[in-house]
Amino acid sequence: MECLKNLEIFDREGITINEDINLQAIGVVNTDIDDPLKMPMGGKLARVDIFPAYQQALLRIEENSHLWLLLWFHKSDRNILSTRPVRVNPDLPEYGVFSLRAYNRPNPIALTKVKLEQVEGNHLWVSGLDAINGTPVLDIKPYYESDIVFSPRTPYIRPCNRQMRLQHFHRHALTYHQEECNDLLTGVRMVLEADEYLGQVTEPDVLITVYGSRCLADTIQGLTLARLANPVRFTFIESDEKLQSQWTKGEHSLVLTCRQHINQDNFWDMDNKELLEIEYK
Ligand SMILES: [Zn+2]
Repeated sequence: MECLKNLEIFDREGITINEDINLQAIGVVNTDIDDPLKMPMGGKLARVDIFPAYQQALLRIEENSHLWLLLWFHKSDRNILSTRPVRVNPDLPEYGVFSLRAYNRPNPIALTKVKLEQVEGNHLWVSGLDAINGTPVLDIKPYYESDIVFSPRTPYIRPCNRQMRLQHFHRHALTYHQEECNDLLTGVRMVLEADEYLGQVTEPDVLITVYGSRCLADTIQGLTLARLANPVRFTFIESDEKLQSQWTKGEHSLVLTCRQHINQDNFWDMDNKELLEIEYK
């Protein structure tokens, strides 16, 4: 395990204190991926092996559905202070590493939210973990409801091509709605179109009205972060007859109406004009 040596800590009076910070790993990641560049964007199912000396610290951990893992990305380049998120989009500008989740950074501490699938003694099976095999685990904390900020302001790291954007929205929709029903797929395709025509769908000036099922409304609300109030951005009208979303941004309006049922067979590949009637003004 690496140590952080002679870190200079400044207090409010500007006095410099030299202090060693020594961290002992409490466990290690066990997965079949050895190369960070081969890691799927949403992470994967992996086993976290907690060292037997710390097993007592896992008492009642199964009462949590989700956990924060703090990891040490041991293969990172610690001299990098700014970078571009090229895997997502090579055309994006440079960001400081403290403004990104990049794994190269001065202290390569990774913070990863995972779903706890199963506990077997000192082994935790978790999904959504984006750490390679052998990554040291520094700490584990439960994920609490108070960790959620429903509509935060974040930079728009827009994936460079349509298929990556579809995967991105699909992944986020599943995190929010928690089931892959056909109306989730419909909502994702609608948000993909809204993003093409109106730009960032989480912007405060994007207003949305959804006609259709609660699953469709839930998915679109999750992806747009549009709240029903404070401020009013989202309206839902339950309907058995039509599946439609109406969008406005400034002077522009967009109406998306389903032409046919969207399901796993047509979701990933079918042309947008075949799935949706698109009216843009
Ligand atoms: Zn659903």
